[in-house]
Amino acid sequence: NLPIIYFVTPTYPRREQIPELTRLAHTLLHVPRLHWLVANDQEGCNVFMDLMLKGFGIPYTHLASPMPSNFRKAKPAPRGVANRRAALQWLRQRNLTNGILYFGDDDNTYDLRLFSEIRQTQRVSMFPVGFIADYGVSGPVVRKGKVVAFLDSWLAGRRWPVDMAGFAVNLQYMAQFPNVNMPYKPGFEEDRFLRSIGLRLDQIEPRGNNCTEILVWHTQTKSKKAAVVRLESEYLDGRSN
Ligand code: UDP
Ligand code: MN
Repeated sequence: NLPIIYFVTPTYPRREQIPELTRLAHTLLHVPRLHWLVANDQEGCNVFMDLMLKGFGIPYTHLASPMPSNFRKAKPAPRGVANRRAALQWLRQRNLTNGILYFGDDDNTYDLRLFSEIRQTQRVSMFPVGFIADYGVSGPVVRKGKVVAFLDSWLAGRRWPVDMAGFAVNLQYMAQFPNVNMPYKPGFEEDRFLRSIGLRLDQIEPRGNNCTEILVWHTQTKSKKAAVVRLESEYLDGRSN
């Protein structure tokens, strides 16, 4: 019996939301034994989105997890944190222990081989992520099958300088740490989360052929908000026809 992968996806309302979730769903449809936790950065339940998620046919849970309003204007804002915290709470409330947690943003690109890699996670597994900042990659440095260091273009004094998409956690392991947490601290979410689950360097399981293969990319979709606003105002003014 394969352990279930709990794939936690923060998402938020903007023009790209539906295409991003469609693209991601069409990846996840290839993956057996996966539960998709879609946490939307919006007040209340979005009925349209719920119908769309149902239509994909993937086992899912749809959470409404708005960013607290005092953080909205912050620069940088803690993007996706309220969402991931809501998913952590959902998992904790159910005392789920037979499964693997993975934080998969709505705009990243996932190789299907990633899922068989993370499913084997005993405690915490790690692997490189492509397209991260200046170096273009972030990930563990492995010597003789063990993680000994990290390559990342923004170290910032972090003990665990890794990307959100670069690790997976076994829920049975995580259950030992009742204070598991992800703070509203932009740039330090991964580090503080991994500290909160008592991670030790010698416990990390390197995946992806000893972290030599990139199976996930931090792709970013180019956004275009202005055009939508203009078309809407033209339409409302009755100038569109
Ligand atoms: N996100 C969110 N609310 C926001 C901005 C982002 O829930 O106000 C989500 C977004 O959908 C993504 C994650 O948080 O899954 C990370 O955001 P983004 O991809 O914009 O950040 P980047 O990858 O550029 O650091
Ligand atoms: Mn992103």
